[in-house]
Amino acid sequence: MNIPYADFKPLENELRPSINEAIQSVLQRSWYINGPEGHRFEEKFAQYCAAKYCIGCGSGLDALMIALKAIGIGPGDEVIVPANTFIASALAVSYAGATPILVEPLLETYNLDPAKLKGAITPKTKAIMVVHLYGQPAEMKDITSIAQHYGIAIIEDCAQAHGAIYQGKRVGSFGDVAGFSFYPGKNLGAFGDAGALVTSNESFARSARILHNYGAQVKYHHDMQGYNSRLDEIQASVLSCKLASLDNVNEKRRLIADRMLNEINNPLITLPTVIESATPVWHIFAVRCDYREQLKEYLSNKGIETNMHYPVPIHLQKAYRSLGYKRGDFPIAEKISATELSLPMYYGMTDEQISFLIQAINDFEV
Ligand SMILES: *Cc1c(COP(=O)(O)O)cnc(C)c1O
Repeated sequence: MNIPYADFKPLENELRPSINEAIQSVLQRSWYINGPEGHRFEEKFAQYCAAKYCIGCGSGLDALMIALKAIGIGPGDEVIVPANTFIASALAVSYAGATPILVEPLLETYNLDPAKLKGAITPKTKAIMVVHLYGQPAEMKDITSIAQHYGIAIIEDCAQAHGAIYQGKRVGSFGDVAGFSFYPGKNLGAFGDAGALVTSNESFARSARILHNYGAQVKYHHDMQGYNSRLDEIQASVLSCKLASLDNVNEKRRLIADRMLNEINNPLITLPTVIESATPVWHIFAVRCDYREQLKEYLSNKGIETNMHYPVPIHLQKAYRSLGYKRGDFPIAEKISATELSLPMYYGMTDEQISFLIQAINDFEV
């Protein structure tokens, strides 16, 4: 049996008629940037996230960077970023001119450890970039109370968590502003690069809307040195179609995750821990194994494709040598990067494939 890590086809085949129609209507209008489709999607996505405003951007990285700039983060500021995340969370801080300060995750949940936050806060700390990694909400209750105590802003990196719920609320509505990616592989994916930020703060929304459109409110009148980072009409039309089935897609992922959580019982494999009051959306089903390379090879020989998120933690990336961190500084992040394996998970995965995957993992031995 062949099980790819991900397969976009089942969902795309199902949505093809509506997506074709949506794209055709954009082509007929011949209006490609800052048009009605973009605004329609922004309205719907803000509503979905229970936020007042949404501003479409060219990518998730841009959305996070513009979010930081919109709330006034810049040179001389420090922003706390989890040590276990995709590099974009840190790059957004760097591109805003600020310095990312890394903090350890919890081994069990892979997300920011609230107990380690205080030790990283200095007079320069202006914000915490909370990442809902792998689709699981971070411990917002504890993080929010620390942020409020120190008067620090919260940016949510929701790039892997569209629709995830914590204490009855969707992620994206906890922080001052949140960034989303619609990279094709994300739970809500476009047909190319795309992203958006959401906020309920009118003044942050106004700044972000100016920043993402060349710093201009009125065409050719530039209030600031902005960016060219808009959500184009074709991507927005695709995203509107796909947003309508996002809850359904997330539900299917949850059913697959539930089976894996209930049926994988190999003592060599550590399953992910779901925190209280959270409904994850399982962007990544991340297990840990001390024999990760053997497990990966073994599954590959059975036709099962896996991935690693992420093989090199941020503090050991060449690109971030300038931060001055060294091996041993973040032992938990290092342990995750040395032992984590991401199992296949996608809409349209058949019961037979799921059973085959679970059986293969349960049969693994060293
Ligand atoms: C994908 C991702 C991003 C960046 O999104 P792009 O659309 O690729 O720029 C940021 N943060 C996390 C956690 C991501 O997974």
